[in-house]
Amino acid sequence: MIKIKGYELFFKDEDYKTEWISKNSDLLCNGCERLLSDNYLNTQVKLPKMKSDFLALMYGGVTICSTDFKNFVEKNNYKNNDFIKLDNYSDRYIFQCKNVISIDKELIDFTDVCDVCNEPISITSKKRMVMVEKKRYSKIVNQNIENNFYITDVAFGSKLQKAPILICSENVLINLKKEGIKGLTTIPIVDLEL
Ligand SMILES: [Zn+2]
Repeated sequence: MIKIKGYELFFKDEDYKTEWISKNSDLLCNGCERLLSDNYLNTQVKLPKMKSDFLALMYGGVTICSTDFKNFVEKNNYKNNDFIKLDNYSDRYIFQCKNVISIDKELIDFTDVCDVCNEPISITSKKRMVMVEKKRYSKIVNQNIENNFYITDVAFGSKLQKAPILICSENVLINLKKEGIKGLTTIPIVDLEL
């Protein structure tokens, strides 16, 4: 029997990462367009209408979320998750998950290194995906996932699109569904041996 440890969380409205920071900003590397600061926050960001409770995962483990999601996290007392109100909206927040989880580095694929900042230009992890009986699973972490949200210590993608992966435990996902939080897509996480 397959034992599920947790879930990778993705959101339907995924195309807004480039709104988070302008293309010519000083905060981006001249070579690879990677964000140079680890704690960049843009509370003045202007975003399209949210159809679900989430917008895309931005840099540094930041997601734009609804008041319903914020209330859900606070009600359930999931620790180390911060919310910062956006200046232009009464019901949207920056969700900052501060529980960092280390991903298994042998599962990561790096491309060429940037001449300017010496960091990989693109990071992917195709090796983490396994198919079992036509269902897709991820092996991204081998440690236990406690009852909370986590952010990976590696940002995937390239250039302006680089972002970490958001993870939650099985119990958190059950509660998210019970609460009627909308716009979640998930990939179950299993042990590396599978
Ligand atoms: Zn660079």
